[in-house]
Amino acid sequence: MQALKATQAREINKADITEAETLVFEGRVLSQTGKQSMEPGEFYFRPTAIPVTTQPGWFAKLLGAKPVNEFKIVQTVVMACPYCATPLMTTSGQTVEHRAPLTISREITCPYAPDAPHSFKVVEGTIMTA
Ligand SMILES: [Zn+2]
Repeated sequence: MQALKATQAREINKADITEAETLVFEGRVLSQTGKQSMEPGEFYFRPTAIPVTTQPGWFAKLLGAKPVNEFKIVQTVVMACPYCATPLMTTSGQTVEHRAPLTISREITCPYAPDAPHSFKVVEGTIMTA
């Protein structure tokens, strides 16, 4: 079992990360004002469109209605893994129950370490091993 490198979830400004990335131009770093990477436990909110298929009711089907494909915007969280700092995005099975302090409904398992699996939960801004 690995040790958590962070026990507090800290919201960061995503623009800081994006800025740091875009300022590396043609192999040269033009500016290092932004943060270069996320620290374990840092996160930001990211609205994500997921495809949803709505089936028509039986009566509408009788009238020839077809399933409707739509996109639904869900709030996901991108968090630097509190064990290995790799940015992880929550899936549709993990809902944000509370934004501040952050609470995520289900545990998150880091997919980037198949040899040393690690998962964690975030409840009221506190990161715990799961
Ligand atoms: Zn990890």
